[in-house]
Amino acid sequence: MISGEGKSALAGLREELRQLDANSRRRFLRTVAGPQRARVVLDGRPVLLLCSNNYLGLAEHPDLARAAARALGKEGCSAGASRLISGTMSAHRALEEDLAAFKKAPAALVFNSGYVANLALMTTLAGAGDVIYSDALNHASIVDGCRLSQARLEIYRHRDVDHLASRLREGGRNFRRRLIVTDSVFSMDGDLAPLPEIVSLARQYDALVVVDDAHATGVIGETGRGSAEYFGLDWRDIDVQMGTLGKALGSFGAYVAGAPELIDYLVNRARSFIYTTALPPAVLAASREALKVVDRELERIAKLALLGSRFRSGLRDLGLPVGEDPTPIIPVLVGPAEKTMALSAWFLERGVFIQGIRPPTVPEGSSRLRVTLSADLEFADLDLVLALFAERRRDFLRKKP
Ligand SMILES: *Cc1c(COP(=O)(O)O)cnc(C)c1O
Repeated sequence: MISGEGKSALAGLREELRQLDANSRRRFLRTVAGPQRARVVLDGRPVLLLCSNNYLGLAEHPDLARAAARALGKEGCSAGASRLISGTMSAHRALEEDLAAFKKAPAALVFNSGYVANLALMTTLAGAGDVIYSDALNHASIVDGCRLSQARLEIYRHRDVDHLASRLREGGRNFRRRLIVTDSVFSMDGDLAPLPEIVSLARQYDALVVVDDAHATGVIGETGRGSAEYFGLDWRDIDVQMGTLGKALGSFGAYVAGAPELIDYLVNRARSFIYTTALPPAVLAASREALKVVDRELERIAKLALLGSRFRSGLRDLGLPVGEDPTPIIPVLVGPAEKTMALSAWFLERGVFIQGIRPPTVPEGSSRLRVTLSADLEFADLDLVLALFAERRRDFLRKKP
């Protein structure tokens, strides 16, 4: 027997980790004690948390916790099987009805996470002989789904409908099925996809539109219904609306909403739906309650929007380039990965946790501090953070690369 130390495969892993270190690409897990909220204890010290997707502050909402506890007491800990075996509980049905109503769509299906929902969508809706048109900055789960689908992949320039149109014009008719897929709120840039233009191109070329509302659900649209509400579109315009329950909704899991035949098709074809144990009842109960809380406490959405516009204008006053779109994701560009991580550490030493985002999550040379806001922050918190940005303003890029 040889020890782990001596195995050459493990030595190879160690070497790759060393290279990640050398390029400022090594990632480490940090531990938050207690619930997710604006102020947390991170690796033992209190900090202001500016990098969570808990946009509405629902992750520790007492009504969600109570609903989950009730379900735990009545229905136990586990669904015990996959949905198609015996794992579909009345709680799954109830949440799916609520989600369909929330999204004003005829039907909805719950998935175990947004990541697997996107794998399901790309691999079931497209295959060999089909083509997927995908925005260059789409989320990694969409990228992975596209790769796994074996469909022809056409990447169009970020938010560039003219480029998308030219790709559709050139090759579109040669494929059996055409999919256009986009994040609605882009996860690392916080900007919005031009959905009305995409929808009209899709009509022209008979393509299915798949929209990832992970950062839009509970966040944009007057009542938090997401990008369709924001743009005045509906389920007939956007064939497939996908979103997660673990970000603004403070729970866990994901959904797809759309036509009944879409949902039936996924139930029959989506391997990441079929071959996995269903979500447990307590999680489903928390999600259902979250949908109710969004409506009961609409002021959370309004406050989040106001925090976002205040913070953007604060950065703009410092001469830093910031986007215009009303989302709670506000990237501040730095450029090199090493400098980005040093800035993130500098903020952390001053009690503010803003994650640095580097390649491969974002393109080379566009590393950034990515600020995300939450409705449980106070306006005074933003003043403090803006004062820190003012101190280091020379270290940020003055224009987009
Ligand atoms: C987070 C995210 C996902 C994945 O959702 P999870 O429920 O966290 O797995 C999918 N798409 C986008 C755009 C995301 O930001």
